Amino acid sequence: MVVVTERSADVVVVGAGVAGLVAARDLARGGADVLVLEARDRVGGRLLNAELPGGAPVELGGQWVGPGQDRVLRLIGELGLRTHPTHADGEHIAEFGPSRSQYTGRIPRLNPLVLADIGQAQYRLDRIARRVAGTDPWRAPGAEALDARTFDTWLRGTVRTASGRAFFRLVTEAVFSAGPEDMSALWAAFYVGAAGGLDRLIDVVGGAQQDRVIGGTQCIALRLAEQLGDRVVLDAPVTDIEWQPPGAPGVRVTTRGGPTVRARRAVVAVPPPLAARIRFTPGLPGDRDQLVQRMPMGRVIKVNVAYEEPFWRRAGLSGQANSTHRALGTVFDNTPYAGTPDGDTPHGSAPGVLVGFLEGRHADAGSRMDPGERRARVIDDLAGYFGPRARRPLAYIERDWAEEEYSRGCYGAFAPPGTLTRFGPALRAPVGPLHWAGTETAAGWAGYIDGAAESGHRVAREILPGLA
Ligand code: FAD
Repeated sequence: MVVVTERSADVVVVGAGVAGLVAARDLARGGADVLVLEARDRVGGRLLNAELPGGAPVELGGQWVGPGQDRVLRLIGELGLRTHPTHADGEHIAEFGPSRSQYTGRIPRLNPLVLADIGQAQYRLDRIARRVAGTDPWRAPGAEALDARTFDTWLRGTVRTASGRAFFRLVTEAVFSAGPEDMSALWAAFYVGAAGGLDRLIDVVGGAQQDRVIGGTQCIALRLAEQLGDRVVLDAPVTDIEWQPPGAPGVRVTTRGGPTVRARRAVVAVPPPLAARIRFTPGLPGDRDQLVQRMPMGRVIKVNVAYEEPFWRRAGLSGQANSTHRALGTVFDNTPYAGTPDGDTPHGSAPGVLVGFLEGRHADAGSRMDPGERRARVIDDLAGYFGPRARRPLAYIERDWAEEEYSRGCYGAFAPPGTLTRFGPALRAPVGPLHWAGTETAAGWAGYIDGAAESGHRVAREILPGLA
């Protein structure tokens, strides 16, 4: 016999990623009785730690934080966590087509014509991004024209050299885990603006890849969940939300195998394609339904490869590598900090780690390979960048995020042409007792952990005054 428990709360939160957990914590601090329902058997959603040989943690999902990400940096501090800089000393590798160069600093050694071409296109993109940045990009001057074409179309009209176009494809795949032909120019500009400019998105020092969380970035979610205690219910995938249930006004939320919850309000803190898989009764207003039908997730396979030591450092290399033609287009040194979140007690021998990403079309192809073939392809690319020692790993840990039932892709959802200007307002507008959170709803650092935190704070501010 299946026993269905009935529970009640002021607010039920669907999803225990950073967005849902921040919302729940703010609501609880504001005096609300809150319950979080999480589909997985763990918290963190797109944040996930794994253990390397020797016990040191490494991230399979989101990991870096950087300047300008004030909300997540504040959260890290409040939770008693610390950051350490991403290793970036030494020469970086850049492969543009057949030519390979090594460089230090921010700018790869390229033909000056190509550099000038990239510079002028970046200047124009950043200028548009500043114009559309903010909560309502669909209202920005020129939004209609930008939303009527893909980012690829915009790049073809703006970038003059083939190498310049190859650079922007690489950057788009690295930042969005999708191709420039997948998203509207408005979404691309909005995303760049939400981060404060393209350099902020792609740089290590001074950018989004600058720092890592000691202990692994999932610690942010784990510590938030510790504070919420038994207000977080795991293994409770939400299947149905009735938002005009018989009896008391509010919501009635049904899970598969977990409790049924009645509450005055619900926060849906899952990415748009996952929200589209929940059955709402009555059905949602057309704009909201159309929106979630139109925002697919990007696609990424993240791979951490551990070696006895970070051998590339001895050769004067930073471990950072990019290529316009390899499947593993972006690689960083991901050697863990030799200490625990609470102190500096070493984890024992932390191995050297390289992290690489199969993104967009490379993730499509990688997903079609069998695991052995994919691993061989990744190791070939690492050996191409760093030499034959890359062929002798201690451990190989990968995660194909499109295979995850409750993520369905990563790093985040994006908007194809005609989405934001037609349905953008439905991203955040509450529907009766239903409120929408998740990094995709953020105005600042959309797609990032910081954006998830922003959305959690915002949704709690929407709800608390109405509960009083
Ligand atoms: P999620 O983390 O997706 O949380 C949603 C939660 O809802 C999940 O726990 C999910 O299990 C749950 N859920 C889904 N459906 C249901 C349901 N029906 N019922 C109940 N629960 C449900 N960001 C950065 O800032 N820096 C990085 O370096 C970075 N790198 C990344 C690398 C990878 C490989 C990935 C995958 C992501 C990366 N990101 C990075 C993005 C970052 O991880 C996300 O922006 C952020 O974690 C999103 O948080 P969220 O709470 O909005 O969503």
